Amino acid sequence: MSFSLRNKSAILFDMDGVLYDSMPNHSKAWSQAMEKFGMYMSPHDVYMNEGATGHDTVVRISLRDRGYEATPSEIDDIYNYKASLFRSMPEARVMPGALEVFRKAAAAGLKILIVTGSGQKNLIERVQRDFEGYITRERMVTAFEVTRGKPYPDPYLKGLSIAGVSAGEAVVVENAPLGIRAGVAAGIDTIAVNTGPLEDEILQAEGPVMLMHSMQEFADRFETLL
Ligand code: MG
Repeated sequence: MSFSLRNKSAILFDMDGVLYDSMPNHSKAWSQAMEKFGMYMSPHDVYMNEGATGHDTVVRISLRDRGYEATPSEIDDIYNYKASLFRSMPEARVMPGALEVFRKAAAAGLKILIVTGSGQKNLIERVQRDFEGYITRERMVTAFEVTRGKPYPDPYLKGLSIAGVSAGEAVVVENAPLGIRAGVAAGIDTIAVNTGPLEDEILQAEGPVMLMHSMQEFADRFETLL
């Protein structure tokens, strides 16, 4: 039994690490911000928490490193500092192959949506320019649209409702373990694209229908999935 896009009518893309090569910047920003507040986040920690809201990430690391929960104002301070560090970094490039995947998905009649845990306003703005013609703000679920972020299914369920399709008619494209978990929890066939340093097994353990290693590979194999 092999996975096919043939019966799908919507494709829901994660943003960081899928559409943008932005994870190295996120990783540096998180580790600097956490260090300032007496905690430690390795690149592995950052990739393992990717997809979660900034709030959930700070809570988790605080409990682990300090044994107590960060206060709401401290969470805001840490996340805002992390976000300001991220904004000061060089712009992440569009992931090679991502536009080609969008072109092919649109040509195949798939509705395109973006479902991200990101609250980075600059990137949320930018994606509408870089992927102009394929995406509008109305077709995006961000940190501003949901209360519970990934790995809860909420962001992807919201995406389904915007697209007006059932879980069985959709496919998710994700690079992060918690993101794959969210897609699977929403009942959606989820394609893993491992663009970071984690081992494939970590992503496979979350139950994707298939795993690729780049958006270019996805673009190259797109026709074989139709
Ligand atoms: Mg991601």
